[in-house]
Amino acid sequence: MSVATSFTQYCPLLLGGDILSLSPSFLLHGKFLRDVPIGATHKLRPPGDIILSALQYGITFGSLCGLAEELGITEPQLIETLGFLNCAGGLRRRRTLQGWLIAMRYTAIHAPTGAINPALSWRQRLSYKSLAYATLRATWPVVLLGILVATVAIVSGIISTVTGLYAMGYALPLFVTSIYIHELAHTYVLRFANIKTDVMQLRLRLGVMHRKASRKVELYCAVAGPSAGIGLCIPGMFYGLTRHVLVIWAASAAIAIIHLAGLLPLYGDGASIRRSWQNSEAI
Ligand SMILES: [Zn+2]
Repeated sequence: MSVATSFTQYCPLLLGGDILSLSPSFLLHGKFLRDVPIGATHKLRPPGDIILSALQYGITFGSLCGLAEELGITEPQLIETLGFLNCAGGLRRRRTLQGWLIAMRYTAIHAPTGAINPALSWRQRLSYKSLAYATLRATWPVVLLGILVATVAIVSGIISTVTGLYAMGYALPLFVTSIYIHELAHTYVLRFANIKTDVMQLRLRLGVMHRKASRKVELYCAVAGPSAGIGLCIPGMFYGLTRHVLVIWAASAAIAIIHLAGLLPLYGDGASIRRSWQNSEAI
């Protein structure tokens, strides 16, 4: 498999009892691994092909390590392959409750030393439900932090209780919903162009994965997301301004700016727009 050593750093924390498998978005055909929604094909070479064959039907990490040892596959080679799969969203992991408790204990012990394991990427075929789930997975730390900050601000008297409740009851749900609508807008454009999509989440990052589309579709897709997110904030900005509810206006404006920042040309949607614009003569 054409993997660089850097993929080692993307391998998540795995326990012996964790059941690992290959995402249904990936198909194994002989010496080739095909990422169906993306349309990418990876040529496999030993030992990657053996590891992926074992993952196809599900295997515990402990058994996979045993298999690797039997076949003379070194631990770095195994970790590298699993890191590559995690990077592409192709690794599935099922863990028992006891396993989660062990993992949390391990993380709590090692976190103070700065040794934080990479997260497991979460990738699913796109649906309203999977997108909603992925959105919640990506945004819950922000929501939790928002609730904590607002609570501390209320308790310490920095803001009034009413303002704090507006922040928690309006701003946080608006933030989560706007992220959902943003990604949904991307998928509508792609669906209109008959392009299959997956949703992928890794920590705070959330995105729609798809094969390369025409420049026109890429441009519309990139513009649609931030526009939908901003559009959802406009009624709140208008309401806050006309009814003189500063917190509603400020929260709506701040969230709209987050989506607007996505249009900056350096990364994400902005980078897609820039690339499409540079090739606009081909549209
Ligand atoms: Zn976007």
